Amino acid sequence: MHINDAVFLEDLCPKFRLRQWRKSIHRFTGKSCIYCGKASESIDHVIPQSQGGLSTTENCVPACLSCNGDKSDENALYWYRRQKFYDPRRAMAIRAWLDGDLRLAIRLLQWANPNSRTKKNNEKDRSEYRAA
Ligand SMILES: [Zn+2]
Repeated sequence: MHINDAVFLEDLCPKFRLRQWRKSIHRFTGKSCIYCGKASESIDHVIPQSQGGLSTTENCVPACLSCNGDKSDENALYWYRRQKFYDPRRAMAIRAWLDGDLRLAIRLLQWANPNSRTKKNNEKDRSEYRAA
């Protein structure tokens, strides 16, 4: 019954839910822009709303203001391909995100951005280095 109370509370407070949702999106990438890796300050629609893109988690990615503003009303996959900071691993991550496979997207982003260190990654990198 407490669960029902919580759902009811969220229905009463859509703004609160929206804020939580936005936070959770940024958390997926560790608050970094999915396109360039800088600090994410906004939520970007991969497929713009003007082209029928929905405000769902699959279509909404964390982006810095620069990328979000520059991309404007374009389809992110086309726009991203033309950027100087284009990275095929990030492009794959965006595609995976769009497919709703956030786990794969996050793994691809970690691969593209080895500086964002978790202990596990460092260990893996070292062992790969040794093997090479
Ligand atoms: Zn960016």
